[in-house]
Amino acid sequence: MKVTEHLRNAKGKTLFSVEILPPLKGKGIQSIYDILDPIMDFKPAFVDVTYHREEYIYKKHPNGLLEKISMRKRPGTVGICAAIINHYKVDTVPHIICGGFSKEETENALIDLSFLGIDNVLLLRGDAIKSEQAFEPHPMGHHYALDLVQQVVSMNKGRYLDEDLKDVSPSSFCIGVAGYPEKHFEAPNLTKDLTFLKAKIDAGADYIVTQMFFDNQKYFDFVELCRKNNINVPIIPGIKPITSSKQLTVLPKIFHVDIPQGLIDAVEGCKSEKDVKQVGIEWCIQQSKELMAAGVPCLHYYTMGNADITCRIAEKVF
Ligand code: FAD
Repeated sequence: MKVTEHLRNAKGKTLFSVEILPPLKGKGIQSIYDILDPIMDFKPAFVDVTYHREEYIYKKHPNGLLEKISMRKRPGTVGICAAIINHYKVDTVPHIICGGFSKEETENALIDLSFLGIDNVLLLRGDAIKSEQAFEPHPMGHHYALDLVQQVVSMNKGRYLDEDLKDVSPSSFCIGVAGYPEKHFEAPNLTKDLTFLKAKIDAGADYIVTQMFFDNQKYFDFVELCRKNNINVPIIPGIKPITSSKQLTVLPKIFHVDIPQGLIDAVEGCKSEKDVKQVGIEWCIQQSKELMAAGVPCLHYYTMGNADITCRIAEKVF
């Protein structure tokens, strides 16, 4: 079932959903089941599975020479989505990115998803890999998530890249895109960022999932601004608890988000990392309860592979 159908069927009740990462190459599907088994007790409406680009690594040979090789450390997004549907009968949302893909490879991945009965996608640009100064699109690929939205919308209308194809079946993807309450780090300002977000919605995206935030006011202001700018699709808040003291600096660096002073003070007042985890969980529970009271359509948790913490939050919220 599509994410938008889940939201409609919920009739105003806040749904629960999670995002998981594919395991590192070499690990089996059981590592995914180990994360999801306890989470399934809270009946997520859907499970997002992230997509990870190739990276360049240097492999040392016995003669001491270093070889630069391209490697995807976390492959398997499509297979994991199919396995989850099969194992738990729960809907999945594979992430599809522009980075590293030609348009044809994207089309082929979408065809695989259609054959597997997966009718949800979250469409993203992806980030620069370590060897790039800034994001570089594949020479035959897309530059922005907007271009990816246009490709999927075309397929939904039965238009494939090869326009000479006859008797084609249109796909039927429900399309999610990313939104940034604290602005995407490359956008000159929030207004400009919203112009591009609106372009993704106007092109046919069905809903937005936000980048994580630790101050609900940022989400409320963002939703208000979106509505003023005629962005009227559901906006699902994505949230994550702080789980270690080093995340006070790591999360702002990676995700370009602010940590509120109250949370910093609480973490700095902790005597151990176990206490930090507890502070993070309690902060996230309070955030969740306030968002739920405000009537958000769904609470989407970035699990980062941490089932135990997600469950400790879910049991206090749902
Ligand atoms: P876009 O919407 O393309 O925007 C990128 C930047 O370009 C923004 O600054 C925007 O303002 C600007 N822009 C957009 N259109 C134009 C235009 N026409 N002209 C000029 N500027 C423009 N990354 C992964 O690699 N894998 C994942 O699985 C993944 N999952 C994510 C899930 C969520 C919910 C979120 C919030 C992020 C996720 N990311 C993931 C990270 C994401 O790929 C990065 O944040 C990336 O830098 C931007 O992606 P986007 O889809 O928002 O890009």
